[in-house]
Amino acid sequence: MSKGDLTYWRETSFYVNPTSRCMNDCLFCVRNYGDGVFGFNLLLDGDPSPEELVTAIEETWNPKFDDVAIVGFGEPLLNIDAVLAGIRRIKELSDVKVRMNTNGQGLLIHPTRDVPQELSDSGLDRVQISLNAPDAETYFQLCKPKMGRGTFESILDFTERCKPLMKVELSAVNIPGVDIDACRGLAERLGVGFRVRVFKGPEGAIEGILRTLSPS
Ligand code: SF4
Repeated sequence: MSKGDLTYWRETSFYVNPTSRCMNDCLFCVRNYGDGVFGFNLLLDGDPSPEELVTAIEETWNPKFDDVAIVGFGEPLLNIDAVLAGIRRIKELSDVKVRMNTNGQGLLIHPTRDVPQELSDSGLDRVQISLNAPDAETYFQLCKPKMGRGTFESILDFTERCKPLMKVELSAVNIPGVDIDACRGLAERLGVGFRVRVFKGPEGAIEGILRTLSPS
């Protein structure tokens, strides 16, 4: 069994943490500033199996939950089979809508699978994709994707493929150096929603991010 919390919650919101691994190293990532949220430890020492994740959901589910998100301390699609099993189980327990936060790299992680269709078939209602930048170069500097400079284009492809299957929202963290209006414009051109996220790092961290983003 994985050490760390596979589910966590606050008030009537319930969250699922299927992995703490990621293929990005975003300058603003909350993992740079702590090991969890709301008093839960979200740093796992290994990914849960589908069975382990379903068991954790069953043991911590409460009918009061009216907001459910697959969003942990890493990229959920790195543990896609557990994610799919978890969504299916939540849909059996409740008719609450389920959303997932992802970095949108599902097509790169699983090139032989139809990830958007599998997510839709499991019952996922809404996907929130971290766009974070209006262009590939800014994304590369800000998120340092291990998959290389083609990552940004793949995120746009993933967005297009999810669009006919579920509600889709792109997002970006509001930090100096990121053109939020340009990100919003890109979302509008793609015909999907857009949401601005608040930077959750400590005071002073923004300066370091700005130094990285500024041309030398
Ligand atoms: S994609 Fe998300 S989890 Fe991964 S490094 Fe960036 S902010 Fe962190």
